[in-house]
Amino acid sequence: MSRDDVAGPIGHGLGEFELIARFFERAGHALPSRVILGIGDDCALLQPTPCMQWAVSSDMLVSGRHFFADVDPCTLGHKALAVNLSDLAACGARPVGFTLALSLPDADAAWLQSFSQGLFALADAHDCPLVGGDTTRGPLTICITVFGEVPPHLALLRCGARAGDDIWVSGTLGDAALALQCLQGQQIRQSQQSLPDDSALLAANLPPAALLAARQRLESPIPRLALGQALRGIASAAADVSDGLLGDLGHILQRSAVGATLDAQTAMNLLATRAYMTGAEATFDIQNPTHAQALQLVLCGGDDYELVFTAPALHRAQVLQAAADCATPVTRVGRIEAAPGLRVLSPDGTPLQGAWAGFDHFR
Ligand code: ADP
Ligand code: MG
Repeated sequence: MSRDDVAGPIGHGLGEFELIARFFERAGHALPSRVILGIGDDCALLQPTPCMQWAVSSDMLVSGRHFFADVDPCTLGHKALAVNLSDLAACGARPVGFTLALSLPDADAAWLQSFSQGLFALADAHDCPLVGGDTTRGPLTICITVFGEVPPHLALLRCGARAGDDIWVSGTLGDAALALQCLQGQQIRQSQQSLPDDSALLAANLPPAALLAARQRLESPIPRLALGQALRGIASAAADVSDGLLGDLGHILQRSAVGATLDAQTAMNLLATRAYMTGAEATFDIQNPTHAQALQLVLCGGDDYELVFTAPALHRAQVLQAAADCATPVTRVGRIEAAPGLRVLSPDGTPLQGAWAGFDHFR
């Protein structure tokens, strides 16, 4: 940072260096041995375990685009780091440390206290300390870079899927997108506009307990770090689901030059909130608007930060054992095929192609 950025206190009489010292430096907090030097000098010094490779990833969160400006700062701190750790998880890497570049409109001590609390709770849970960063005045933007390590040749990449592999998904999908629909719907109602036609069936009928659970998925995603590391040498390809299953599986298909089929019934059942749907137990029927919307949420909804991965069918028992070892549920949702493209099959085996092609508007 240059002195120009400082221009006196950022706000509330709190200067930049005081802000860093008070909310981010954590004097006396022990650092893991892989961090030789943390915050306070021109650079942090990291020492990876001998013979490991670095896995490095950055993600930027911009107010109004990636989160609501008035979101609880504690959950925002959690989410900002979680989405980065999720990238390490998708590579099968173990976290070492992270940097935080923060642009703030002003220095609100209560906001910073809560933000750093959410951030450090997750960082401590994964022994991944904050080792440096930058702080400036500007529109609220959070940019985190995580550093992780992974043994050579064992990183999970997007390019390794082969015809015949199973397609697996961790946890549940679609609920974060449903919560977002609900919250956006509430905002629209508050502004007295009418709701767009395509929103809401499920969102409007969601009981408060279900909305709370879905909102938890949106605001406090769980990076699947243990699963990612447990899948080294077992999975053939992996990605985290940040933009929706179709999109992120699509990256794997493209990088691996293969196609896939997904099972619509299994996919619909990945929506945790389906428990609150009437007719949730029924066989999937694309003509049923609730089923169609549930499938749309699972396939196209983003922000879940689960892992989608492929593994040879021979590794099925190993996948289930790895998942059990880290207490993360996994579901086999489809198969990799040589024929390019992605087909979603209804329970009678016919492809839904026409129907879900129209789901794109949701993205
Ligand atoms: P420089 O001018 O060398 O870039 P700064 O004055 O910006 O350094 O920052 C001083 C120290 O505080 C550095 O070690 C930097 O990594 C750290 N730092 C700055 N902002 C943050 C932040 N938001 N979170 C963590 N560390 C930070
Ligand atoms: Mg410097």
